[in-house]
Amino acid sequence: MRLFDAHTHLDMPHYKNDLDKVIKRALEAGVEGMVSCSVGPGSFRRTLGIVKKYKGIVFHTAGTLVSQLTREDADKIISLSRKYSTELVAIGEVGLDYYWVKDPAGRKAQEPLFLDFIALAEELELPIVIHSRKAEAEAVTILEQNFDGPVLMHCFDGPPEVAERVRDNGWYITLPANFGRSRRRVHAAKILPLEQIMLETDGPYLSPTGERNEPANIRYGCETLADVLEMEPEEVARATTQNARSFYRV
Ligand SMILES: [Zn+2]
Repeated sequence: MRLFDAHTHLDMPHYKNDLDKVIKRALEAGVEGMVSCSVGPGSFRRTLGIVKKYKGIVFHTAGTLVSQLTREDADKIISLSRKYSTELVAIGEVGLDYYWVKDPAGRKAQEPLFLDFIALAEELELPIVIHSRKAEAEAVTILEQNFDGPVLMHCFDGPPEVAERVRDNGWYITLPANFGRSRRRVHAAKILPLEQIMLETDGPYLSPTGERNEPANIRYGCETLADVLEMEPEEVARATTQNARSFYRV
């Protein structure tokens, strides 16, 4: 099978002691590419090193920890992204988080930072990867008004009417390896055509097994999606890999 993990976090301390083995297991499971998302200035620098070591297998998207993002960190990430733009495949995850941030002022404060990253993606002519936890409709509205490039709604968990907007805009979603547990995600898998769906692990998080999650587990998401769509896993693997390669241009 040819699989592709469209969103993971390989620089996290969870992988510090055995990243080589994690990558090896992924390759053995048929994962031919992984996009590692950095979430801050330190994470950005660590990810540069990982991409260099696993050239052509691991790719870097420059993101943020949306719920905790400060102006200061945003500025640092933006300047690093400009400096290393040719080594990036996308900007994000960036966006809105209404799950961890509940107060209206805190939520509102996320918007100018989100807009700065949208402008950065436009400036660098890179696709954008969106984190929109409990804020899917709000994030989609901001993007519709401010961004013309390719959009990926990572770990999409929005209601059907937002899934329809994502579909109609020609954007993508990723489904995590444990997505079978989410009614909304299963529903989104049926609303969007397969051409607009990718698979991710979001490792080390969202594990389908209860253990630390890692890119080799992408096969669980592939099997679930094959079940939902009543297709062969090989066919789903081929299509989602192709989608990831075309979105990230790798
Ligand atoms: Zn993530």
